[in-house]
Amino acid sequence: MSEPNDTEELAALTTTLKRHLQRRQRAGVGYLPKAAPAPVKTASVSETPDLLAGTESAMLADTRSGLQAESLDQLRAVIGDCQRCKLCSGRTHIVFGVGDPQAKLMFVGEGPVRDEDLQGDPFVGRAGQLLTDIITKGMGLRREDVYICNVVKCRPPDNRNPEPDEVAACEPFLKKQIDIVRPDIIVGLGKFAVQTLLGSKVPISKLRGVWASYHGIKLMPTFHPAYLLRNPADKKLVWEDIKQVIKVMQGENA
Ligand code: URA
Repeated sequence: MSEPNDTEELAALTTTLKRHLQRRQRAGVGYLPKAAPAPVKTASVSETPDLLAGTESAMLADTRSGLQAESLDQLRAVIGDCQRCKLCSGRTHIVFGVGDPQAKLMFVGEGPVRDEDLQGDPFVGRAGQLLTDIITKGMGLRREDVYICNVVKCRPPDNRNPEPDEVAACEPFLKKQIDIVRPDIIVGLGKFAVQTLLGSKVPISKLRGVWASYHGIKLMPTFHPAYLLRNPADKKLVWEDIKQVIKVMQGENA
């Protein structure tokens, strides 16, 4: 095969950039930041930046600046080309989140798997199609009307569960995402998301279908769409949970 010429190379670069910008737009990031916001300076970090790079102190300072983000754009910029945990080594894309930055309804899943890692958007594979059906066919909404994200933003290898250190590194960003979007309702998808949000070890089979509270936001725990692909008979239970969500969205009390 011959080497691409300059025009072909430029065209390929333009396509890649266009896709990247479209993905950012879908994630609610409307512009290209000039630079990531400067990390909050603490005495120790500002005095010895090189010595602390990559250490827990540096990560904490960095996370604190994440906590100061006022928009999803700023938060995404703070995450940057994240190297805060070992998941960075195997990822293709950071899967930040997608949808309406002011959504009333937010879905939180576990973490990206293969399709999401390749495309950079949450819930775009088979489980994602099922979630999209729940949103569109079940709830009569568009995917763009809600906000969708995960506990961890990078794909764990072989689709294993995220490990505690990986959750610890990513959780502040999920919390901040929720804080910025400030939805009326969160639907927690599956054991992992629900247990992380509630700080609980109670099995999802016990938690699902019962309203909980995440810092004052109504949280409906339900089964993960990937679980439903393996256990389709339980779709009716998820539909019961979703009907409760619809009722509250329509103004009925939980
Ligand atoms: N499973 C998840 O938990 N999140 C995704 O984005 C896709 C599959």
